[in-house]
Amino acid sequence: MNVTRLALLGMNHEANTFSPHVIDRARWEIFGTRRGEDLVAHYGQSRSTVAGYLAAGKWDDVQVVPLAFTQFTPAGQITAEVFDEIVGELLQLLRDNGPFDGVLLALHGAAVSEEFPDADGRIARLVRETVGDVPIGVSSDMHANISPEMVAASDVLATYRTNPHVDAYERAIEVADLIVRAARGQVRPTQTLRQVPAAINIMRQYTSVEPMSGILKELATVLDTPGVLTATVAEGYPYADVEEMGMSAVVVTHDDPELAARLADELAAAVWARREEFGANAATAAGAVASAAAATDGPVLLLDVGDNIGGGSPGDSVVLLAESVRQAAGPTLVTIFDPESAAVARAAGVGNSVDLNVGGKIDPDCGPPVPFTGTVTAVHDGKYADTGPTHGGQMHFDAGDTAAVQASDGTVVVLTSKLVGAYSAAHFPLLGIDPRSFRIIIAKGVQSPLASYGPLAKQIVQVDTPGVTSADLSRFTYHRRRRPLYPFEADASL
Ligand SMILES: [Zn+2]
Repeated sequence: MNVTRLALLGMNHEANTFSPHVIDRARWEIFGTRRGEDLVAHYGQSRSTVAGYLAAGKWDDVQVVPLAFTQFTPAGQITAEVFDEIVGELLQLLRDNGPFDGVLLALHGAAVSEEFPDADGRIARLVRETVGDVPIGVSSDMHANISPEMVAASDVLATYRTNPHVDAYERAIEVADLIVRAARGQVRPTQTLRQVPAAINIMRQYTSVEPMSGILKELATVLDTPGVLTATVAEGYPYADVEEMGMSAVVVTHDDPELAARLADELAAAVWARREEFGANAATAAGAVASAAAATDGPVLLLDVGDNIGGGSPGDSVVLLAESVRQAAGPTLVTIFDPESAAVARAAGVGNSVDLNVGGKIDPDCGPPVPFTGTVTAVHDGKYADTGPTHGGQMHFDAGDTAAVQASDGTVVVLTSKLVGAYSAAHFPLLGIDPRSFRIIIAKGVQSPLASYGPLAKQIVQVDTPGVTSADLSRFTYHRRRRPLYPFEADASL
């Protein structure tokens, strides 16, 4: 058989359009774009989308050409200049290294640039124009706000089915398999998108419990239907103020558009039927800390919803730490992005006492800084790997120069110099910290910390804290989202 030659490329960016922190050239340089062998070395051993795509290159008569991939920590929009440069390079690499029999595209699905609110759709469209009529597969995050353009410009689109996202690798394998078969003329994918006029609160997106667990059972039924190649229910990302924000369903069939349309309608109806369960139900900071302090068994994991780094927040909120200190709730463990305090602690050195003002320096709603006196117990270069389950299957993390400081009540703040999502708890042992010995662990996220932090805790509480990822969507002013959209407009209809 002739070798089926596939291009691997993409960009992963989840844009919180309410965040003031745009992705400009300086931020892009921190994250960097990985190309060719560097891309393989960085992602090859992980459980990410890119790793799944790379694995397809080991199949018989399949060649996967790793072109370029950029992964951002969620933040605000990408500047027009940076977006143009990233996409321009992707297209140039496609032209220079082609022709290809198919394309494996890794996109988040909630990217926004200053110029293009539907940045993922824009990339898919430009890739289509560049490669012509060969199959294009898109593997996306479950938080994708799927646009008609993303679906029109690709042949197979599938998102993760888990949140926290522990099936990125498997979904990429699935998409790659369909693209290989399509390139060989063995299947003819046809896909239909149904946008549901509803947004589900970030706090109700955990896929192991209702309503999402029930919706995923409906999805499983669709996936088992003869003629269906793959299917998706995307949760959407409510902090992106774009027209396609909200939930959606995609069904891909083998050459059967009517079946795809009927099943997409069924999935949309199944989602719509559960809409009254999509609202937030978070504890207050004071209430959550008080109940953690009174719990018979710890640690209690407090999820700092308003400072959800995976959702584009600053990562330095001290609202929960301040509440723990105020209530004298007991030994508390928190990781805070605070390069200034990290530098002071590192300069003092291990074993020495420091007086710090930690966190709360970026968003006034998430401060003010907390006065914190303690002993520096460890320093580290902040680079760590996690071989256990993590959100998105990521393996390598870089928190920059890091220091741990312990107060007299046993509370420990881990101060980092780079912003890194709370996807992994693997940095604690490197700092000599046993998370299980604490009364409270604070993690900055909603579902994303659960894969790694969840097993450490006896109890998990989502807390409605202030910030650009607040659970209370009524705090945000939307200009571009479609209307009517439930729950903002209660009279929305399917
Ligand atoms: Zn996600």
